[in-house]
Amino acid sequence: MLLRICTLLLLTGAFLVSCNDYDRDSSADLVVINANVLTVDDLFSNAQAFAIRDGVFEAVGSNDEIESYIGNQTRVIDADGRTVIPGLIESHVHATSVVQREYATPHPFEQLGSIGEIQDWLRTEVERTDPENWIPLPRVDVTRIQEGRIPNRADLDEAAPDHPAAFTWQFANRQVQVLNTAALQSAGIDRETTEPEGCTIERDDAGDPTGVLENCSELTGDYLPTREIPEDRYHDDLERLLHNYNKTGITSIFERGSNPQGYETYRQLREQDRLTARVTVTINLSSDGTVEGSEEVINSFPVAFGEGDDWVRTGPLKLRIDGGILYGSAYMREPYGPDALDFYGFDDPDHHGTLLISPENIENMIRAGYKNGWQMSAHVTGDAGVDRVLDAVEAVQEDLQPDDPRFTLIHAYFANPETAERANRLGVGIDTQPAWLYKDGDALARILSEERMNEFIGVQTWLDGDAIVALNSDHMQGFDPDRSLNPYNPFITMYTMISRQTESGQVIAAEQQISREDALRMMTSNAAWFSFDEDKKGSIEPGKLGDFAILSDDYLTCDVEDIKEIRSLLTVVGGEIVYEVGDF
Ligand SMILES: [Zn+2]
Repeated sequence: MLLRICTLLLLTGAFLVSCNDYDRDSSADLVVINANVLTVDDLFSNAQAFAIRDGVFEAVGSNDEIESYIGNQTRVIDADGRTVIPGLIESHVHATSVVQREYATPHPFEQLGSIGEIQDWLRTEVERTDPENWIPLPRVDVTRIQEGRIPNRADLDEAAPDHPAAFTWQFANRQVQVLNTAALQSAGIDRETTEPEGCTIERDDAGDPTGVLENCSELTGDYLPTREIPEDRYHDDLERLLHNYNKTGITSIFERGSNPQGYETYRQLREQDRLTARVTVTINLSSDGTVEGSEEVINSFPVAFGEGDDWVRTGPLKLRIDGGILYGSAYMREPYGPDALDFYGFDDPDHHGTLLISPENIENMIRAGYKNGWQMSAHVTGDAGVDRVLDAVEAVQEDLQPDDPRFTLIHAYFANPETAERANRLGVGIDTQPAWLYKDGDALARILSEERMNEFIGVQTWLDGDAIVALNSDHMQGFDPDRSLNPYNPFITMYTMISRQTESGQVIAAEQQISREDALRMMTSNAAWFSFDEDKKGSIEPGKLGDFAILSDDYLTCDVEDIKEIRSLLTVVGGEIVYEVGDF
């Protein structure tokens, strides 16, 4: 009660000191003053200072208003005019697999960008690898290779004349592998080799293998080294990765395709007090596609939806509906067109992409999830895939009338007004990744029509239709914020939607540019909606969890090119400093 009186008196400004005297317990744990606070509340209001107690924002206002919260034990941070934002919510990463893959590969992942860079990488590995061991090349998607093609056997032979080397380009149900001559010999693949079912060995006119294999992991799998990370190391590295996230201002993540073990890993870290970011764990659902079969899988999970606490919680179940636009397997309304077919290596002129689950089974699986109290989501990239998913969501929701289900479309690369309107009507949110525009937009603009590129990650179209959008990275490999796949630097994510610029500086569909305010909302308050946390986080308001970051530059007014260079100087989660650089 005293606290409430106190706040009321503070509004007049005059009773500040006496108020503080009456209630010694009202002193905060942490106070930030002299800041340019972007609260990201409904009005996007500014404030100068705030106080945190017991991990929660207690008051937000002017320096004068907050002064009374300062007691003997309060840590006071003078932000010296710097910009402070709510802790960023990165709503699509694969942190546990980042850690596992990083351990499995010989040295830190870096995004390579040309055949030359791939060869240089290989040459370095040749130096340090016994010639009987195979060298697996790091993942590079063809859209990120300057030459617009994956390396061929001759490219690999040039860099690795004696060592077996394999380049793998894989997505969903299609795997293309390029082997060099030493690898073909090592695996015994020659003109006599018979293809296992589903595998195609590409051959030249003379009938000899060219080195290109499609879906032939049966022939190569045994040769590629595997390294499983020991549990201690796994936990240590995951902790280190979360700390890297904190350096960019991220305070919450969504694991966007995990399993109950992934949830358990985070729960253990939480128990050991080693978590520095809050985690929502999305759980993959695959089943025979029937309602009963899907329910059986769901009931076998040792966790329920929403289990956990404000640090670690289970999120939605996730279906995989189609492939990806980097692979020509996003399921599209219109055929890809000749340039794209050439680029992706498809023959069928009517190629629309790949639908991995039938419309009937999509509906069954969503129904099974809803019936068992789960929020549902789907990896769906193409516009026709989105249509099929929304058909299913509409049918099931009409039937079951769930209260506030918040179905989430994950990716949904091609925005159009009628889909935006439909998503809004069905209460469906969209989780999408500007990195595909930043890193792959140049290549995609060469092979897809202008009309299609105008829709690509067309966030303004989603906004015009009042659909709820969260921006994120889909971080899959590497620890570096700018050189990983995808770069998880949230300021690159926001910059890309603000500028619509690719990494090379090409502007794609300027009419889709969004405001800096909207971009920030999509990584804070809007992102919180996806895990039903909009009353708990995503803005700096009294009663919300005390998560924030002090930035190195003024996000709203700095030069647009400087946005992607912004770093956090100090990151706080639940009132605890998890990252700090410099003097505060
Ligand atoms: Zn993902």
